[in-house]
Amino acid sequence: MSETYDMLIIGAGPAGLTAGLYGSRSNLKTVIIEKGLVGGQLLNTEAIEDYTGFEHITGPELAQLMEKHARKFGVEINTFEGVESVKKIGEIFEVRTDVRTYQATTVIATAGGTAIKLGVPGEDELAGRGVSYCAVCDGAFFNGQVITVVGGGDAAVEEANYLTRFGSRVYVVHRRHEFRAQKILQDQLFHNPKAEVIWDSVVETINGEKEVDRVVLRDVKTGETREHPTQGVFIFVGFKPNTYFLEDHPAHDVGGHLLTNDRMETGIPGLFAAGDLRSQLVRQITNAVGDATVAALAAEKYITHLKHAQAGVAV
Ligand code: NAP
Repeated sequence: MSETYDMLIIGAGPAGLTAGLYGSRSNLKTVIIEKGLVGGQLLNTEAIEDYTGFEHITGPELAQLMEKHARKFGVEINTFEGVESVKKIGEIFEVRTDVRTYQATTVIATAGGTAIKLGVPGEDELAGRGVSYCAVCDGAFFNGQVITVVGGGDAAVEEANYLTRFGSRVYVVHRRHEFRAQKILQDQLFHNPKAEVIWDSVVETINGEKEVDRVVLRDVKTGETREHPTQGVFIFVGFKPNTYFLEDHPAHDVGGHLLTNDRMETGIPGLFAAGDLRSQLVRQITNAVGDATVAALAAEKYITHLKHAQAGVAV
């Protein structure tokens, strides 16, 4: 017999932990299911300086504080359990994981996203042997070596700044002549004597026998290619929202991010979305936490409304 929860949350990043806090604090039977460790992308973030009230905190520290806070109200957190499908049957969601099957009245999807690959020869073959998608995890392996970062968004520029602690030189290869990253991050990079930008260029191949020793760059304006010696290649070319478990994929934008209304409701009643997998202008911890607050409180109202309707009480 599967268990029935009032609120089932998928993902234990800042959004999931916040939804868990509000759900359990409202005395709802609440569970968070997380395929890895608690913290989500926080675990890959070295320094956080833009979460209000915390002038400087590391991602893992913030994750620990958020987990402790959510647990204080009794939320159940099941880690290393991957959600495989979410299906609505009547008024109840059936959520299958690789461990068991849950039943829940509401589901809040806060599963974030997965790093997008460049899709060039050598990327898969040399993954973990010079190719990385996580600066905090792997930066220290490249102490005193040449590092090449690919991308022009917040992640690429922020992580390039971070990687200058380790690399003898950090190159940022970007396909245009303008970054889309926040100006403050760009300014930090432009003023960093160890960093250099290679504009209007793309990585064609990543090369090396056992480990990366060079990449081939192509100038998109002239078409010229050249070898660029480097030991580390850090790829930050975007994120794909983790929505694969939704069988009836609700309305979404071109990038696959879920569309919601201002209550964080998706097109499926009882299914809410918060954080990076939701379609929105920015993806910050602050707004993930804000989304999740709205989603959890809206889910609580949805549950109350449903119970009243089932009991025949006018609402
Ligand atoms: P992003 O903003 O989508 O940027 C992706 C970058 O990769 C863009 O510069 C894009 O180039 C480039 N790119 C995409 N495909 C490429 C390809 N095939 N070859 C070469 N370059 C390619 O992704 P993100 O930086 O991972 O950020 C994701 C979200 O998280 C954003 O909303 C961001 O604001 C947020 N975030 C915030 C912070 C922070 O505030 N501290 C830190 C990290 C992430 P074009 O510019 O030419 O499209």
